[in-house]
Amino acid sequence: MVLKFETKWEIPYVHSAGEHGTKFFEALKDKKIMGVKCPECGRVLIPPRAFCERCFVDTADWVEVSDEGEVVTVTVTYIKFTGLPDPPYATGIVKLDGADTGMLCLLGGIDLSDWKKVHETFKPGARVRAVWKEEREGKITDILYFEPVEG
Ligand SMILES: [Zn+2]
Repeated sequence: MVLKFETKWEIPYVHSAGEHGTKFFEALKDKKIMGVKCPECGRVLIPPRAFCERCFVDTADWVEVSDEGEVVTVTVTYIKFTGLPDPPYATGIVKLDGADTGMLCLLGGIDLSDWKKVHETFKPGARVRAVWKEEREGKITDILYFEPVEG
């Protein structure tokens, strides 16, 4: 048997968004989702990063993509995590129109208590659009969630 000590850590931390992250978050204030285009392969990368992970070249060509796209994956979470909404909540990878990569997003606008309904509504290929916060502050939470596009 070994001794166990219960403790609680509370560590203040400042996280840098970097140059690409700063431009991405600032654009959210104007309801714009910005990515970068790779000069080699031409892919539009969302979220934007300083280099293309396939070509290993710098990216600096900014491109605005749509706030609508299609679901790639979805999952429903029933456990509380710090900094995330009260459960149940749905997250998924969404590939926005004009982008070649997906972005992890909250999915919502429907009753999330029935996971089967959530998976049916947000099945791969389902169309979704961003629901924007009224007062935006340049944070990822400026997009409340992505809701189903009817039709
Ligand atoms: Zn590339």
